[in-house]
Amino acid sequence: MPFSQIIGQRKALSLLRRALNGRRLAHGYLFTGPEGAGKSTTARALAATLLCEQKGGGPPCGFCSGCRKFAAGSHPDFLLLQPEGAGIKINQIRELKKALTFPPFEQGMRAVIIEDAQSMGREAGNSLLKLLEEPPPDNIILLIASDAEPMLETIVSRCQVIPFAPLTEAEAGQVIRQTQPQFSPEDARLMAKLTGGCPGRAAALHSSDALRLHKECLDALLAAAASEAAAVEQALALAGRLAELKDDLNLFLDLLSLSWKEVMASRLCGKELEAGHPLAGARERWNLQQLSAMVEAAASARSDLARNCSRTLVCEALLLELFCGGAKGGGGL
Ligand SMILES: [Zn+2]
Repeated sequence: MPFSQIIGQRKALSLLRRALNGRRLAHGYLFTGPEGAGKSTTARALAATLLCEQKGGGPPCGFCSGCRKFAAGSHPDFLLLQPEGAGIKINQIRELKKALTFPPFEQGMRAVIIEDAQSMGREAGNSLLKLLEEPPPDNIILLIASDAEPMLETIVSRCQVIPFAPLTEAEAGQVIRQTQPQFSPEDARLMAKLTGGCPGRAAALHSSDALRLHKECLDALLAAAASEAAAVEQALALAGRLAELKDDLNLFLDLLSLSWKEVMASRLCGKELEAGHPLAGARERWNLQQLSAMVEAAASARSDLARNCSRTLVCEALLLELFCGGAKGGGGL
């Protein structure tokens, strides 16, 4: 992906563009910022630009042998280090140093990306430091770290640090729609909100059943069961399926809270909900007190889970409250 297609991160991109155009690239960069904000995408875009054989500072052409090898993941002058187990190991840094004793094989530049650089132990860090202190020519080392804090200060001071901030919700939604077309527009919008402007985090969420169960739960609440007994039965059946979400249960709870909070905001500001919102046609269904009770019920389920309470019991208590308790309405709230 060329720089021009990267959404947001204008400051980081303009720094890199200026360095590229003026041929003043540093030997080492440290991209820091929250996970999923675009650091890896930007590092890969920079590597692709450096490895394209059509020189001239423009975006990678996409057709030359360098571009094709990079896209296929087989470019000999592109090295990617990812944590082995808990972090980047000293052996990985030793191997890297060995590789860098040789000049680049092809177009004169080699790009090295070290992901999760904050996971490097002191030993590996010190070994990398020597490389950054005496960088072999024609190599550029891109360190990616969610947090520079745990890294050796000496490493940080040897790199040009480029901070990455979370994107705006609109930008994050655009990235999610572009990179993960499997999300519906409404799900992309919810994910942009839930991931706090770090759309890279959404990829792991798509395979979760939390999104589907979130809609199912809201639909069931809106439909209202024929009798109290039917409501209890429905709540318990859904609770059993929710408990199977395991670690994604928190995602489900966040989605529920978000939907209700959006209804509350919409009623308070007198603004319609966005088209496609799961509660778009039911804004008046609950009053503010009931909405707030439901948000509280979800928050208390979240804290019970954090205290390691039984998932099944937490889900049953939550859904009985939502389907049969005060939050349902008419229960004296
Ligand atoms: Zn090219």
